[in-house]
Amino acid sequence: MRVMHVASEVAPYSKSGGLADVLGALPDALSRLGVEVTVVTPRYRSIDPTRFGFARRLEPLRISLAGHQSEVGIYEGFGSAGPKVRIFFVDHPESFDRDGLYGPPVSAGGGDFSDNARRFAILGKAALAIALDPKLNARPDVIHGHDWQAGPAMLYALDPSLPWAEPGMPNRGAPKTVFTLHNLAYQGIFNSQIISELDLPGNLFHPDGYEYWGNVSLLKAGLALAERLTTVSPRYAREIQTSEYGHGLDGLLRARSSRLHGILNGVDYRVWNPEIDSLLPAQYSADALAGKRACKAALQAEFGLPLRPDTPLCGSISRLVEQKGFDLVISALSKILADEDVQYVVLGTGDPALERALAEMQTVHPKKVSIRVKYDEGLAHRIEAGSDLFVMPSRFEPCGLNQIYSLRYGTPPIVRAVGGLDDTIVDFDAHSETGTGFKFSEYTPAALEETWRRALRTYRTVRQFTALQKRAMAQDFSWAASAKKYLDLYRS
Ligand code: ADP
Repeated sequence: MRVMHVASEVAPYSKSGGLADVLGALPDALSRLGVEVTVVTPRYRSIDPTRFGFARRLEPLRISLAGHQSEVGIYEGFGSAGPKVRIFFVDHPESFDRDGLYGPPVSAGGGDFSDNARRFAILGKAALAIALDPKLNARPDVIHGHDWQAGPAMLYALDPSLPWAEPGMPNRGAPKTVFTLHNLAYQGIFNSQIISELDLPGNLFHPDGYEYWGNVSLLKAGLALAERLTTVSPRYAREIQTSEYGHGLDGLLRARSSRLHGILNGVDYRVWNPEIDSLLPAQYSADALAGKRACKAALQAEFGLPLRPDTPLCGSISRLVEQKGFDLVISALSKILADEDVQYVVLGTGDPALERALAEMQTVHPKKVSIRVKYDEGLAHRIEAGSDLFVMPSRFEPCGLNQIYSLRYGTPPIVRAVGGLDDTIVDFDAHSETGTGFKFSEYTPAALEETWRRALRTYRTVRQFTALQKRAMAQDFSWAASAKKYLDLYRS
Protein backbone atom coordinates (compact mmCIF):
# COMPACT_ATOMS: atom_id res chain seq x y z
CA MET A 1 0.00 0.00 0.00
CA ARG A 2 1.39 3.37 -1.03
CA VAL A 3 -0.11 6.57 0.28
CA MET A 4 0.76 10.15 -0.62
CA HIS A 5 -0.20 12.85 1.87
CA VAL A 6 -0.63 16.40 0.61
CA ALA A 7 -0.61 19.04 3.35
CA SER A 8 0.27 22.66 3.95
CA GLU A 9 1.98 22.07 7.32
CA VAL A 10 4.24 19.28 8.51
CA ALA A 11 6.03 19.34 11.89
CA PRO A 12 8.86 19.97 12.52
CA TYR A 13 9.33 21.83 9.23
CA SER A 14 6.34 24.17 9.31
CA LYS A 15 3.58 24.64 11.83
CA SER A 16 0.77 26.96 12.77
CA GLY A 17 -1.42 24.45 14.63
CA GLY A 18 -2.43 20.85 15.17
CA LEU A 19 -2.44 19.95 11.46
CA ALA A 20 1.36 20.07 11.49
CA ASP A 21 1.54 17.77 14.52
CA VAL A 22 -0.66 15.21 12.75
CA LEU A 23 1.47 15.26 9.60
CA GLY A 24 4.59 15.02 11.74
CA ALA A 25 3.44 11.76 13.33
CA LEU A 26 0.78 9.91 11.32
CA PRO A 27 3.08 9.08 8.37
CA ASP A 28 5.60 7.38 10.68
CA ALA A 29 2.82 5.45 12.43
CA LEU A 30 1.49 4.30 9.04
CA SER A 31 4.93 3.26 7.90
CA ARG A 32 5.23 1.08 10.99
CA LEU A 33 2.14 -0.75 9.71
CA GLY A 34 3.90 -1.41 6.42
CA VAL A 35 2.46 1.48 4.39
CA GLU A 36 4.88 3.21 2.03
CA VAL A 37 4.27 6.88 2.75
CA THR A 38 5.22 10.04 0.91
CA VAL A 39 4.38 13.55 2.09
CA VAL A 40 4.23 16.56 -0.24
CA THR A 41 4.36 20.01 1.34
CA PRO A 42 5.61 23.50 0.48
CA ARG A 43 9.11 24.66 1.13
CA TYR A 44 8.35 27.88 2.98
CA ARG A 45 11.00 30.54 3.60
CA SER A 46 11.36 29.34 7.20
CA ILE A 47 12.45 25.85 6.08
CA ASP A 48 16.12 25.21 5.51
CA PRO A 49 16.06 21.81 3.74
CA THR A 50 19.77 21.17 4.25
CA ARG A 51 19.34 21.40 8.02
CA PHE A 52 17.19 18.29 7.76
CA GLY A 53 19.49 16.54 5.32
CA PHE A 54 17.21 17.03 2.34
CA ALA A 55 18.73 17.09 -1.15
CA ARG A 56 17.57 19.14 -4.10
CA ARG A 57 16.74 17.01 -7.10
CA LEU A 58 18.65 18.19 -10.11
CA GLU A 59 15.71 17.95 -12.44
CA PRO A 60 12.84 20.30 -11.68
CA LEU A 61 9.22 19.27 -12.15
CA ARG A 62 7.38 20.80 -15.03
CA ILE A 63 3.83 21.85 -14.35
CA SER A 64 1.31 23.71 -16.41
CA LEU A 65 -1.25 26.14 -15.09
CA ALA A 66 -3.80 27.62 -17.50
CA GLY A 67 -1.55 26.93 -20.45
CA HIS A 68 1.58 28.41 -18.84
CA GLN A 69 4.44 26.02 -18.26
CA SER A 70 6.57 26.54 -15.20
CA GLU A 71 9.27 24.77 -13.30
CA VAL A 72 9.07 23.76 -9.67
CA GLY A 73 12.09 22.62 -7.68
CA ILE A 74 11.85 19.71 -5.28
CA TYR A 75 13.83 18.71 -2.25
CA GLU A 76 13.60 15.14 -1.12
CA GLY A 77 14.43 13.67 2.28
CA PHE A 78 13.27 11.32 4.97
CA GLY A 79 11.01 11.90 7.97
CA SER A 80 12.40 12.25 11.47
CA ALA A 81 11.83 8.56 12.28
CA GLY A 82 14.04 7.30 9.46
CA PRO A 83 13.99 6.27 5.82
CA LYS A 84 10.46 4.86 5.75
CA VAL A 85 8.70 8.17 5.11
CA ARG A 86 9.71 10.14 2.02
CA ILE A 87 9.10 13.86 2.19
CA PHE A 88 9.04 16.20 -0.80
CA PHE A 89 9.31 19.95 -0.34
CA VAL A 90 7.79 21.83 -3.25
CA ASP A 91 10.11 24.74 -3.95
CA HIS A 92 8.33 27.49 -5.82
CA PRO A 93 9.88 30.70 -4.49
CA GLU A 94 7.32 32.99 -6.08
CA SER A 95 4.63 31.24 -4.01
CA PHE A 96 6.33 30.12 -0.84
CA ASP A 97 9.48 32.16 -0.26
CA ARG A 98 7.85 34.77 1.97
CA ASP A 99 7.22 35.35 5.66
CA GLY A 100 4.15 33.52 6.92
CA LEU A 101 2.39 30.33 5.82
CA TYR A 102 -1.00 31.72 4.82
CA GLY A 103 -0.59 35.43 5.26
CA PRO A 104 1.89 38.06 6.44
CA PRO A 105 2.65 38.14 10.19
CA VAL A 106 0.21 40.19 12.28
CA SER A 107 3.01 42.73 12.80
CA ALA A 108 3.01 43.24 9.02
CA GLY A 109 -0.74 43.60 8.73
CA GLY A 110 -1.89 39.96 9.01
CA GLY A 111 -4.73 38.58 6.90
CA ASP A 112 -4.41 36.13 4.03
CA PHE A 113 -2.18 36.29 0.97
CA SER A 114 -4.31 37.30 -2.01
CA ASP A 115 -2.89 34.50 -4.16
CA ASN A 116 -3.48 31.64 -1.69
CA ALA A 117 -5.64 29.67 -4.14
CA ARG A 118 -2.86 29.79 -6.70
CA ARG A 119 -0.15 28.92 -4.16
CA PHE A 120 -1.93 25.75 -3.08
CA ALA A 121 -2.92 24.92 -6.65
CA ILE A 122 0.81 24.81 -7.35
CA LEU A 123 1.24 22.46 -4.39
CA GLY A 124 -1.50 20.27 -5.91
CA LYS A 125 -0.02 20.31 -9.41
CA ALA A 126 3.39 19.45 -7.98
CA ALA A 127 1.94 16.57 -5.94
CA LEU A 128 0.36 15.05 -9.06
CA ALA A 129 3.56 15.59 -11.04
CA ILE A 130 5.53 13.77 -8.32
CA ALA A 131 2.96 10.97 -8.28
CA LEU A 132 3.19 10.55 -12.05
CA ASP A 133 6.96 10.89 -12.53
CA PRO A 134 8.30 7.34 -13.04
CA LYS A 135 11.80 8.45 -12.02
CA LEU A 136 10.57 9.39 -8.56
CA ASN A 137 8.91 6.01 -8.04
CA ALA A 138 6.25 7.56 -5.81
CA ARG A 139 3.05 6.54 -7.57
CA PRO A 140 0.47 6.12 -4.80
CA ASP A 141 -2.54 3.85 -4.40
CA VAL A 142 -4.18 6.57 -2.33
CA ILE A 143 -3.82 10.34 -2.36
CA HIS A 144 -4.70 11.66 1.08
CA GLY A 145 -5.32 15.41 1.24
CA HIS A 146 -5.64 17.55 4.36
CA ASP A 147 -7.82 20.65 4.67
CA TRP A 148 -8.66 23.15 1.95
CA GLN A 149 -5.06 23.66 0.92
CA ALA A 150 -5.19 20.12 -0.50
CA GLY A 151 -8.48 20.80 -2.31
CA PRO A 152 -6.78 21.53 -5.66
CA ALA A 153 -4.79 18.26 -5.40
CA MET A 154 -8.06 16.39 -4.82
CA LEU A 155 -9.57 18.01 -7.91
CA TYR A 156 -6.53 17.47 -10.14
CA ALA A 157 -6.43 13.80 -9.08
CA LEU A 158 -9.87 13.36 -10.67
CA ASP A 159 -8.65 14.36 -14.14
CA PRO A 160 -9.52 11.33 -16.31
CA SER A 161 -6.80 12.16 -18.83
CA LEU A 162 -3.89 11.65 -16.43
CA PRO A 163 -1.61 8.85 -17.64
CA TRP A 164 -1.73 6.47 -14.71
CA ALA A 165 -1.27 3.32 -16.79
CA GLU A 166 2.27 1.89 -16.67
CA PRO A 167 4.20 -0.45 -18.91
CA GLY A 168 3.12 -3.91 -17.88
CA MET A 169 0.13 -2.50 -15.99
CA PRO A 170 -2.00 -0.92 -18.73
CA ASN A 171 -5.17 -1.11 -16.66
CA ARG A 172 -3.73 0.50 -13.63
CA GLY A 173 -6.31 3.04 -12.47
CA ALA A 174 -6.06 6.41 -10.85
CA PRO A 175 -5.24 6.53 -7.13
CA LYS A 176 -8.17 6.58 -4.73
CA THR A 177 -8.74 9.75 -2.74
CA VAL A 178 -9.11 10.33 1.00
CA PHE A 179 -9.68 13.76 2.46
CA THR A 180 -9.25 14.72 6.11
CA LEU A 181 -11.02 17.69 7.58
CA HIS A 182 -9.06 19.23 10.44
CA ASN A 183 -11.25 22.30 10.89
CA LEU A 184 -14.51 23.16 9.11
CA ALA A 185 -14.09 26.84 9.93
CA TYR A 186 -11.47 27.30 7.19
CA GLN A 187 -13.22 26.67 3.89
CA GLY A 188 -10.89 28.10 1.26
CA ILE A 189 -13.54 30.18 -0.50
CA PHE A 190 -12.49 32.04 -3.65
CA ASN A 191 -14.05 33.83 -6.60
CA SER A 192 -15.07 31.47 -9.40
CA GLN A 193 -12.60 33.09 -11.78
CA ILE A 194 -9.97 30.78 -10.28
CA ILE A 195 -11.62 27.88 -12.14
CA SER A 196 -9.99 28.92 -15.40
CA GLU A 197 -6.89 30.46 -13.82
CA LEU A 198 -6.08 27.26 -11.96
CA ASP A 199 -7.39 24.62 -14.39
CA LEU A 200 -10.07 23.40 -12.00
CA PRO A 201 -12.56 20.98 -13.60
CA GLY A 202 -15.47 23.17 -14.73
CA ASN A 203 -17.81 20.18 -14.95
CA LEU A 204 -17.65 19.73 -11.17
CA PHE A 205 -18.51 23.33 -10.39
CA HIS A 206 -22.06 22.78 -9.14
CA PRO A 207 -23.72 22.48 -5.72
CA ASP A 208 -22.93 18.76 -5.47
CA GLY A 209 -19.32 19.52 -6.38
CA TYR A 210 -17.11 22.33 -5.20
CA GLU A 211 -19.46 25.28 -5.77
CA TYR A 212 -20.46 27.17 -2.65
CA TRP A 213 -23.14 29.77 -3.38
CA GLY A 214 -21.53 30.86 -6.63
CA ASN A 215 -18.00 30.77 -5.27
CA VAL A 216 -15.36 28.06 -5.22
CA SER A 217 -14.83 26.28 -1.89
CA LEU A 218 -11.59 24.34 -1.96
CA LEU A 219 -12.62 22.64 1.26
CA LYS A 220 -15.86 21.51 -0.30
CA ALA A 221 -13.86 20.11 -3.21
CA GLY A 222 -12.39 17.58 -0.81
CA LEU A 223 -15.56 17.02 1.20
CA ALA A 224 -17.83 16.51 -1.82
CA LEU A 225 -15.54 14.59 -4.13
CA ALA A 226 -13.05 12.45 -2.20
CA GLU A 227 -13.94 8.78 -1.98
CA ARG A 228 -13.54 8.69 1.79
CA LEU A 229 -13.69 11.51 4.32
CA THR A 230 -12.31 11.62 7.78
CA THR A 231 -12.25 14.12 10.54
CA VAL A 232 -10.20 14.16 13.68
CA SER A 233 -12.57 12.94 16.40
CA PRO A 234 -15.76 10.85 16.49
CA ARG A 235 -17.78 13.54 18.24
CA TYR A 236 -16.73 16.26 15.76
CA ALA A 237 -17.76 13.89 12.93
CA ARG A 238 -21.28 13.89 14.42
CA GLU A 239 -21.33 17.60 15.29
CA ILE A 240 -20.48 18.81 11.79
CA GLN A 241 -23.61 17.10 10.50
CA THR A 242 -25.74 19.54 12.55
CA SER A 243 -26.63 23.09 11.60
CA GLU A 244 -25.07 24.39 14.84
CA TYR A 245 -21.56 23.17 13.94
CA GLY A 246 -21.88 22.54 10.20
CA HIS A 247 -20.73 25.99 8.95
CA GLY A 248 -23.26 25.67 6.13
CA LEU A 249 -21.90 22.30 4.99
CA ASP A 250 -23.92 20.07 7.34
CA GLY A 251 -26.33 19.03 4.56
CA LEU A 252 -23.46 17.80 2.37
CA LEU A 253 -21.87 16.04 5.35
CA ARG A 254 -25.15 14.34 6.27
CA ALA A 255 -25.54 13.20 2.67
CA ARG A 256 -22.02 11.73 2.76
CA SER A 257 -22.17 10.40 6.32
CA SER A 258 -21.63 6.79 5.24
CA ARG A 259 -18.25 7.90 3.84
CA LEU A 260 -17.32 10.06 6.83
CA HIS A 261 -15.25 8.62 9.67
CA GLY A 262 -14.14 10.26 12.92
CA ILE A 263 -10.63 9.07 13.75
CA LEU A 264 -9.08 10.60 16.83
CA ASN A 265 -5.69 12.22 16.45
CA GLY A 266 -2.86 10.60 18.34
CA VAL A 267 0.04 12.13 20.18
CA ASP A 268 3.68 11.86 19.24
CA TYR A 269 5.08 10.82 22.63
CA ARG A 270 8.61 11.09 21.25
CA VAL A 271 8.03 14.85 21.27
CA TRP A 272 5.46 15.32 24.06
CA ASN A 273 6.65 13.34 27.06
CA PRO A 274 7.98 14.96 30.27
CA GLU A 275 10.27 11.99 30.96
CA ILE A 276 12.45 12.76 27.94
CA ASP A 277 11.49 16.33 26.99
CA SER A 278 14.78 18.17 26.52
CA LEU A 279 12.96 21.52 26.17
CA LEU A 280 12.13 21.42 29.92
CA PRO A 281 14.36 22.67 32.73
CA ALA A 282 13.75 19.33 34.53
CA GLN A 283 12.29 16.00 33.48
CA TYR A 284 9.74 14.06 35.53
CA SER A 285 7.36 11.13 35.56
CA ALA A 286 4.20 10.08 37.41
CA ASP A 287 6.32 8.38 40.07
CA ALA A 288 8.79 11.24 40.45
CA LEU A 289 6.99 14.56 40.28
CA ALA A 290 9.77 16.71 41.80
CA GLY A 291 10.82 17.80 38.30
CA LYS A 292 7.34 19.19 37.72
CA ARG A 293 7.71 21.44 40.75
CA ALA A 294 11.02 22.68 39.34
CA CYS A 295 9.30 23.34 35.99
CA LYS A 296 6.60 25.34 37.79
CA ALA A 297 9.12 27.56 39.58
CA ALA A 298 11.02 28.12 36.34
CA LEU A 299 7.80 29.00 34.51
CA GLN A 300 6.77 31.51 37.19
CA ALA A 301 10.21 33.08 36.86
CA GLU A 302 10.07 33.09 33.05
CA PHE A 303 6.69 34.85 33.13
CA GLY A 304 7.81 37.31 35.82
CA LEU A 305 5.28 36.06 38.37
CA PRO A 306 5.93 35.65 42.11
CA LEU A 307 7.53 32.27 42.89
CA ARG A 308 4.73 30.71 44.89
CA PRO A 309 4.88 26.91 44.90
CA ASP A 310 1.39 26.48 46.41
CA THR A 311 -0.50 28.96 44.24
CA PRO A 312 -2.28 27.09 41.45
CA LEU A 313 -0.71 28.08 38.13
CA CYS A 314 -3.07 27.79 35.15
CA GLY A 315 -1.89 27.95 31.54
CA SER A 316 -3.15 28.18 27.96
CA ILE A 317 -1.33 27.81 24.64
CA SER A 318 -3.42 28.73 21.66
CA ARG A 319 -4.05 30.47 18.45
CA LEU A 320 -6.02 33.48 19.72
CA VAL A 321 -9.11 33.09 17.57
CA GLU A 322 -12.83 33.09 18.28
CA GLN A 323 -12.91 29.28 18.23
CA LYS A 324 -10.79 28.90 21.33
CA GLY A 325 -13.14 30.52 23.84
CA PHE A 326 -10.98 33.34 25.20
CA ASP A 327 -14.04 35.56 25.57
CA LEU A 328 -15.13 33.09 28.26
CA VAL A 329 -11.66 33.00 29.80
CA ILE A 330 -11.57 36.78 30.12
CA SER A 331 -14.99 37.06 31.80
CA ALA A 332 -14.59 34.03 34.06
CA LEU A 333 -11.05 34.90 35.10
CA SER A 334 -11.90 38.47 36.03
CA LYS A 335 -14.31 37.06 38.64
CA ILE A 336 -11.95 34.33 39.82
CA LEU A 337 -9.05 36.76 40.23
CA ALA A 338 -11.14 38.85 42.62
CA ASP A 339 -11.16 36.24 45.36
CA GLU A 340 -8.88 33.30 44.46
CA ASP A 341 -5.17 32.89 44.95
CA VAL A 342 -4.36 31.87 41.38
CA GLN A 343 -1.93 32.61 38.55
CA TYR A 344 -2.60 32.41 34.80
CA VAL A 345 -0.13 32.39 31.91
CA VAL A 346 -0.97 32.48 28.20
CA LEU A 347 1.11 31.89 25.09
CA GLY A 348 -0.64 32.80 21.87
CA THR A 349 -0.99 35.00 18.85
CA GLY A 350 -3.87 35.96 16.65
CA ASP A 351 -6.78 38.33 16.98
CA PRO A 352 -5.39 41.73 18.07
CA ALA A 353 -8.55 42.44 20.12
CA LEU A 354 -8.02 39.27 22.18
CA GLU A 355 -4.32 40.04 22.53
CA ARG A 356 -5.26 43.49 23.87
CA ALA A 357 -7.89 42.14 26.28
CA LEU A 358 -5.40 39.66 27.75
CA ALA A 359 -2.71 42.33 27.98
CA GLU A 360 -5.16 44.50 29.88
CA MET A 361 -5.75 41.72 32.43
CA GLN A 362 -2.00 41.52 32.85
CA THR A 363 -1.82 45.27 33.51
CA VAL A 364 -4.60 45.09 36.13
CA HIS A 365 -3.23 41.91 37.79
CA PRO A 366 0.53 41.99 37.18
CA LYS A 367 1.22 39.46 39.95
CA LYS A 368 -1.36 37.00 38.73
CA VAL A 369 -1.62 37.18 34.93
CA SER A 370 1.17 37.15 32.37
CA ILE A 371 0.95 36.76 28.61
CA ARG A 372 3.42 36.19 25.79
CA VAL A 373 2.24 37.14 22.34
CA LYS A 374 4.41 35.02 20.06
CA TYR A 375 4.87 31.56 18.64
CA ASP A 376 7.37 29.62 20.71
CA GLU A 377 7.61 25.83 20.60
CA GLY A 378 9.90 25.55 23.65
CA LEU A 379 7.70 27.79 25.76
CA ALA A 380 4.67 25.68 24.78
CA HIS A 381 6.40 22.63 26.29
CA ARG A 382 7.40 24.57 29.41
CA ILE A 383 3.80 25.73 29.95
CA GLU A 384 2.48 22.18 29.61
CA ALA A 385 4.98 21.06 32.22
CA GLY A 386 5.05 24.00 34.62
CA SER A 387 1.30 24.62 34.91
CA ASP A 388 -0.98 22.87 37.39
CA LEU A 389 -4.09 23.18 35.25
CA PHE A 390 -4.56 23.70 31.50
CA VAL A 391 -7.42 25.92 30.29
CA MET A 392 -9.08 25.18 26.91
CA PRO A 393 -12.79 26.14 26.81
CA SER A 394 -13.27 26.02 23.03
CA ARG A 395 -16.47 27.05 21.29
CA PHE A 396 -15.82 24.11 18.94
CA GLU A 397 -12.81 21.82 18.76
CA PRO A 398 -12.26 19.26 15.97
CA CYS A 399 -9.79 17.28 18.09
CA GLY A 400 -7.50 19.52 20.05
CA LEU A 401 -4.03 18.37 20.97
CA ASN A 402 -2.98 20.58 23.84
CA GLN A 403 -5.48 19.00 26.22
CA ILE A 404 -4.07 15.56 25.37
CA TYR A 405 -0.49 16.80 25.84
CA SER A 406 -1.47 18.30 29.18
CA LEU A 407 -2.71 14.88 30.37
CA ARG A 408 0.74 13.39 29.84
CA TYR A 409 2.39 16.38 31.58
CA GLY A 410 0.23 15.88 34.69
CA THR A 411 -1.61 19.15 34.05
CA PRO A 412 -5.33 18.29 34.19
CA PRO A 413 -7.24 20.29 31.59
CA ILE A 414 -10.36 22.39 32.09
CA VAL A 415 -12.29 21.91 28.85
CA ARG A 416 -15.66 22.43 27.30
CA ALA A 417 -17.42 19.14 26.45
CA VAL A 418 -17.30 19.62 22.70
CA GLY A 419 -15.67 17.80 19.76
CA GLY A 420 -12.40 16.09 20.53
CA LEU A 421 -12.23 17.73 23.96
CA ASP A 422 -15.23 15.66 24.97
CA ASP A 423 -13.84 12.49 23.39
CA THR A 424 -10.48 12.71 25.17
CA ILE A 425 -11.23 14.06 28.66
CA VAL A 426 -13.28 12.34 31.38
CA ASP A 427 -14.76 14.67 33.99
CA PHE A 428 -13.28 14.40 37.48
CA ASP A 429 -15.61 12.91 40.05
CA ALA A 430 -14.63 13.46 43.66
CA HIS A 431 -16.73 10.61 45.05
CA SER A 432 -15.61 7.80 42.79
CA GLU A 433 -12.18 9.42 42.26
CA THR A 434 -12.37 8.93 38.52
CA GLY A 435 -11.74 11.24 35.59
CA THR A 436 -8.81 13.02 33.99
CA GLY A 437 -9.86 16.69 33.86
CA PHE A 438 -12.71 19.14 34.36
CA LYS A 439 -15.56 19.53 31.87
CA PHE A 440 -18.49 21.86 31.39
CA SER A 441 -21.11 22.01 28.65
CA GLU A 442 -22.77 25.41 28.32
CA TYR A 443 -20.80 28.01 26.39
CA THR A 444 -21.15 30.63 29.15
CA PRO A 445 -18.67 32.47 31.38
CA ALA A 446 -20.61 31.23 34.43
CA ALA A 447 -20.17 27.58 33.43
CA LEU A 448 -16.43 28.02 32.91
CA GLU A 449 -16.09 29.97 36.17
CA GLU A 450 -17.86 27.26 38.17
CA THR A 451 -15.72 24.50 36.66
CA TRP A 452 -12.51 26.50 37.06
CA ARG A 453 -13.33 27.04 40.75
CA ARG A 454 -14.09 23.32 41.12
CA ALA A 455 -10.65 22.57 39.65
CA LEU A 456 -8.99 25.03 42.07
CA ARG A 457 -10.74 23.36 45.03
CA THR A 458 -9.53 19.97 43.84
CA TYR A 459 -6.00 21.37 43.50
CA ARG A 460 -6.08 22.29 47.18
CA THR A 461 -7.10 18.74 48.13
CA VAL A 462 -3.58 17.51 47.57
CA ARG A 463 -4.16 13.77 47.78
CA GLN A 464 -7.08 13.86 45.33
CA PHE A 465 -5.23 16.14 42.96
CA THR A 466 -2.10 13.99 42.89
CA ALA A 467 -4.21 10.91 42.14
CA LEU A 468 -5.92 12.86 39.34
CA GLN A 469 -2.55 13.87 37.89
CA LYS A 470 -1.36 10.27 37.92
CA ARG A 471 -4.52 9.04 36.20
CA ALA A 472 -4.08 11.73 33.56
CA MET A 473 -0.44 10.82 32.99
CA ALA A 474 -1.35 7.16 32.51
CA GLN A 475 -3.66 7.88 29.56
CA ASP A 476 -2.39 6.60 26.24
CA PHE A 477 -3.29 8.43 23.03
CA SER A 478 -0.41 7.14 20.92
CA TRP A 479 -0.81 7.02 17.15
CA ALA A 480 -0.72 3.26 16.64
CA ALA A 481 -4.45 2.66 17.15
CA SER A 482 -5.53 5.61 15.00
CA ALA A 483 -3.06 4.75 12.23
CA LYS A 484 -4.62 1.27 12.08
CA LYS A 485 -8.01 2.91 11.47
CA TYR A 486 -6.59 4.94 8.57
CA LEU A 487 -5.08 1.78 7.13
CA ASP A 488 -8.46 0.00 7.33
CA LEU A 489 -9.99 2.94 5.52
CA TYR A 490 -7.36 2.87 2.74
CA ARG A 491 -7.98 -0.86 2.33
CA SER A 492 -11.73 -0.31 2.08
P1 ADP B 1 -5.33 24.09 16.53
O1 ADP B 1 -4.86 23.10 15.52
O2 ADP B 1 -6.78 24.47 16.37
O3 ADP B 1 -4.46 25.31 16.60
P2 ADP B 1 -4.56 22.08 18.51
O4 ADP B 1 -4.72 22.03 19.99
O5 ADP B 1 -5.04 20.89 17.74
O6 ADP B 1 -5.25 23.43 17.99
O7 ADP B 1 -3.01 22.24 18.16
C1 ADP B 1 -2.30 23.38 18.47
C2 ADP B 1 -0.83 23.11 18.34
O8 ADP B 1 -0.17 24.34 18.07
C3 ADP B 1 -0.22 22.56 19.59
O9 ADP B 1 0.89 21.76 19.29
C4 ADP B 1 0.21 23.85 20.31
O10 ADP B 1 1.22 23.63 21.27
C5 ADP B 1 0.68 24.68 19.16
N1 ADP B 1 0.61 26.13 19.37
C6 ADP B 1 -0.46 26.94 19.23
N2 ADP B 1 -0.12 28.24 19.47
C7 ADP B 1 1.19 28.23 19.78
C8 ADP B 1 2.15 29.25 20.13
N3 ADP B 1 1.81 30.54 20.23
N4 ADP B 1 3.43 28.88 20.37
C9 ADP B 1 3.78 27.58 20.28
N5 ADP B 1 2.94 26.56 19.96
C10 ADP B 1 1.67 26.89 19.70
